[in-house]
Amino acid sequence: MVLLLFGPPGCGKGTQAAVITQILRIPAISTGEIFRAELKAGTALGNAAKEIMAGGGLVGDDIVNEMVRGRLKQPDCRDGFLLDGYPRTIPQAEFLDRLLGELGRPAPSVIYLEVPDDVLVARLTARRQCPVCGRIYNLQSQPPLKDGVCDVDGAALIQREDDQESVIRARLKAYAEATGPLIEFYSGPRFHRIDGNRRPSEIQEDINRILGLNG
Ligand code: AMP
Repeated sequence: MVLLLFGPPGCGKGTQAAVITQILRIPAISTGEIFRAELKAGTALGNAAKEIMAGGGLVGDDIVNEMVRGRLKQPDCRDGFLLDGYPRTIPQAEFLDRLLGELGRPAPSVIYLEVPDDVLVARLTARRQCPVCGRIYNLQSQPPLKDGVCDVDGAALIQREDDQESVIRARLKAYAEATGPLIEFYSGPRFHRIDGNRRPSEIQEDINRILGLNG
């Protein structure tokens, strides 16, 4: 199965990706997470993306596409994969189409999580992440058991640099301009629009239904 999780920053893609990957036993590949890991490791790729990410813009299509090509050829993608945060532009979607053809993979199913902008800003400014295990928290809706530390490993939670309000607005603008047209690109029976402004468990039920996982 090839699954694309779609939607603006803060729509809940990361949270849902973590659940889907466990149920379907396929890797969840987040291009944003790959960039952050490369940045942390100080690689050339990380440095190339650094300033663009800090300003909330999009990294160039060629860079992202080649990175994804390399990742999808890894053995853990053999039985399928979920892409979170890719494609984000029409050229990326066209590239992915060709790549799936080359790799002999089926056309993707697309899940689009729709959330209004002011809800996204409120969510993102309250978002925290564990730098060790990657678990995502929200100070309002899903706080950690103990203030400021991860429930799983006790590491001090961090706020992503690009989760500051001014950067969030830039990211939402970049999303609307570049990613909005993708909704049109993928429209058809494999495109599923879900109301993402609900509790994660409710959203999960809808996704399970779409994936045929409800028994
Ligand atoms: P995310 O974690 O998905 O919100 O991504 C964080 C940042 O990484 C974005 O704001 C972009 O700067 C960069 N990025 C991630 N995925 C892509 C992509 N598919 N195309 C271009 N830039 C990306």
